[in-house]
Amino acid sequence: MARIDVVEGDITRLRVDAIVNAANRSLLGGGGVDGAIHRAAGPQLLAACRPLGGCPTGEARITPGFRLPARHVIHTVGPVWHGGDQGEDALLGACYRNSMQLAAENGVESIAFPAISCGVYGYPPQRACEVALGALQDWLRTAAQPINVVLCCFSAEIAAIYRRLLDAQA
Ligand code: ADP
Repeated sequence: MARIDVVEGDITRLRVDAIVNAANRSLLGGGGVDGAIHRAAGPQLLAACRPLGGCPTGEARITPGFRLPARHVIHTVGPVWHGGDQGEDALLGACYRNSMQLAAENGVESIAFPAISCGVYGYPPQRACEVALGALQDWLRTAAQPINVVLCCFSAEIAAIYRRLLDAQA
C-alpha cells in the first residue's frame, strides 16, 4: 500500500524520486516554491523548461532535477483562487492527478508535493488540502503501482490541516 506522509520543511531538500513544482503557465520560474526549486536545481532547469512552451492550468510537465536531490521535477500549474465558482477545485484536483500520472509513467516511486495554489494564488488552505488529499487518495486507489506521497508543508498551519484530515480518516 502506498503511504501518504506529512512533512514540514523545504521541498528542495527532500530525497524523493520527484518533487512537484507549483509553477505558473510560462514555466519560466517565479516566486515562492517555484523560485526556490529553480535556485536549488540551477540554471539548467530553466533551460529545460524553455522548450516546453508553457503549461495550461491543471496540467503537468516533467524535467530532470539537475542539482536537486530529486531525480525529476514535475511542474504543474495550479488555479488562481477567484472565489471558488470558476472551476478551481476541478483544476486543483487535476494538478494532483496529472502529476501522479506523469510520475507513474516515469517510474517514480516517491513524490513530494507543495501545497499547490496556497501561496500567491490565494487558495483557502483548508479547501486546498481537502481537494489535494481527495485527488491523491482517489488516484492511489486505482493505481497500477503504489507511489509514496510526501505532503511537504512550508508552514505549520498547512501541516496541521493535513494531519487533522488524515487523523479523521483513521
Ligand atoms: P502558488 O502560486 O501555487 O500559490 P506559491 O509558491 O506561492 O505557489 O505557494 C505554494 C505553497 O508552497 C505555499 O504554501 C508556500 O508556503 C509553499 N512554499 C514556498 N516555498 C516552499 C519550499 N521551499 N518548500 C515547500 N513549500 C514551499
